[in-house]
Amino acid sequence: MRSGLRSLSVLGLLGVMLLFTSCGGGATPSAVDGVLDLRDFHFDGHIGLDGEWRFMWGDGSADQLSRQENYIHIDVPDAWNGYRYKDQKLSGHGSGSYFLTILLPEQLQSYALEFPTAGTAYNLFINEMLIGGVGIYSSDPALARPAYDPQVYDLGRHSHQLNLRIDVSNHHHRLGGLWESISFGLNDKVAQNRENHVAMELFMVGAIFVMGFYHLGVFSLRTRGKSALYFGLFCLLIGLRTLTTGEIFLQQIWPGLSWHLLIKIEYLTFYLGIPIFFLFIQIQFPDEIKKWTAQIVLVISSIAVFLVIFSGVKLFSLSLIYFQPFSMLAMLYLIYGLGLAFLRGEEGSTLVLIGLLSLVVAFVNDILYNSNIIQTGHLISLGLLVFILTQALLISIRFSKAYVTIDTQRIKLERTNVAYQSEIEGRKTAEQEVLKQHNQLEELVKERTTELQLANEQLKELSRVDGLTGIANRRRLDEELDREWKRTLREKRPLSVVLGDIDHFKFYNDTYGHQQGDDCLRRVSKAIKDSVNRPGDLVARYGGEEFCIVLPETSSEGASQIAEFIRKNVRNLNIEHKTSKVASMVTLSLGVATLIPNRDSQPSLLIEAADRALYQAKGNGRDRVELNIADS
Ligand code: GH3
Ligand code: MG
Ligand code: MG
Repeated sequence: MRSGLRSLSVLGLLGVMLLFTSCGGGATPSAVDGVLDLRDFHFDGHIGLDGEWRFMWGDGSADQLSRQENYIHIDVPDAWNGYRYKDQKLSGHGSGSYFLTILLPEQLQSYALEFPTAGTAYNLFINEMLIGGVGIYSSDPALARPAYDPQVYDLGRHSHQLNLRIDVSNHHHRLGGLWESISFGLNDKVAQNRENHVAMELFMVGAIFVMGFYHLGVFSLRTRGKSALYFGLFCLLIGLRTLTTGEIFLQQIWPGLSWHLLIKIEYLTFYLGIPIFFLFIQIQFPDEIKKWTAQIVLVISSIAVFLVIFSGVKLFSLSLIYFQPFSMLAMLYLIYGLGLAFLRGEEGSTLVLIGLLSLVVAFVNDILYNSNIIQTGHLISLGLLVFILTQALLISIRFSKAYVTIDTQRIKLERTNVAYQSEIEGRKTAEQEVLKQHNQLEELVKERTTELQLANEQLKELSRVDGLTGIANRRRLDEELDREWKRTLREKRPLSVVLGDIDHFKFYNDTYGHQQGDDCLRRVSKAIKDSVNRPGDLVARYGGEEFCIVLPETSSEGASQIAEFIRKNVRNLNIEHKTSKVASMVTLSLGVATLIPNRDSQPSLLIEAADRALYQAKGNGRDRVELNIADS
């Protein structure tokens, strides 16, 4: 929306500029048959000495010209190429004289001429008096020297009539003759006009160079955007070109500059400007303007540039005949592409199109003006300026858009950062919570593990304790016996085992019942346990009513003594046993076995030996201790 408004305002500006420059036209008199009648002309400014001049080919004089067969009519401004003189068709090369009679008001006034460039050397005569000239005029190519040097000639005070004669020679350029309009007017008006030209041109050159250097600077900072490079180069070329045309300031900046080099520079700026201009537009609208077209333009322009650098003016100035339509074709293609981009609503296409159109309008205007069809003046510099301004505007818009994008992205980024920050905080708290719970869980697991270990130990303990009597069971007995076996094996110490069996316990059960049998078993086991007091000793229930006592580091004598002690203690319990065939109370038979373990024997050996002793005790009448000296 806003860029649309901007484009409109630029378009408006262009229109106003065109309007201004086309003002002041009006009905200006032009020469007829070599006479320009200004008797009734009101000199409020200056006038172009345009129209039908008299012209004589070769070296001539006014006298010769008085004979009608010696002259032809020729248009000024125009090159003499192509005019027929007598029987020959004029080429660009040769020399000739232009004649114009200006009829002036009766009043005596100071006049001046503003003489732009002519092709390519001339001498100016007023009333057959040499006033000035540029270059060296000669019909001899060896003597002639071309030059471009716009001049203002003070003609002095005149009235009634002024006879102008301009001898022009050209042996160096493709075109010859008075190809630019010569201004005539009152002295101060012409001077003022000249000053205006100079000011305008200097302004253009300054503006264009500033643009050029600015965009090259932009490119050097950000080499990704090639458009700034092309645009900067284009501006510098146009700036340089402006210095080689119009007032030709380049000659003032560089006094020794030869005409040939000047022409080369003028052509080169044009031939280089076209492809750079094309590339500049092309990279901005690659969808509409195909890359291969830019390559074609580049190749053709390179050939032209090559020609200009390595050949003379005579030859390369011919190339313009082909290059001009070619460049027009390229411009038309660009307009077509831009029109397409405009219809597609592509960003920036409006501004570029306006710029390009203003350039083309100015170009066409200049052709029409040069052909004396319209009286607007040269507009190409203005068109270029408008073009450059629109491009600069576009590039600025793009830059500011980029800044806006950066800004919004920055704000977005900041917001995201803040969001992330709070998320990080949230996550941290959650993490801490998780850690806390994890620790609690670990604590709990530890607690449970300890409990479990305790329970396990209890279970293990339980699994090794006899449920009825509370003394060690068979499993614990096996473990302890095994351990003691190994230990005594290492230390080569004796190990004793006592096996005890309640006498006639079957009868006891039968007499007093199983319940009381259990009770008896409990009392007997307690008595046995109480009889043994060394910490390494173990009392276990071997099975049913049988008990096993492990006595480490105990000799057979010691073991027998302990067995005897046990027997007595059980008997002393005095548990009634009516049906016993041995005594009236519960008694115990015991078998003792002792050995010093060696590598080839097993703990079971010791038990078997004790069992044999027990069997012996049973056989020998029960309620006694028998000793078996086991072989180890
Ligand atoms: P002996 O003097 O030859 O040893 O005769 P005994 O009757 O003791 O011999 P036996 O080994 O034939 O009998 C053992 C009896 O012990 C059999 C069973 O009724 C009893 N008994 C074994 N274990 C238990 C128990 O845990 N509780 C009770 N009440 N009786 C048991
Ligand atoms: Mg038994
Ligand atoms: Mg028994």
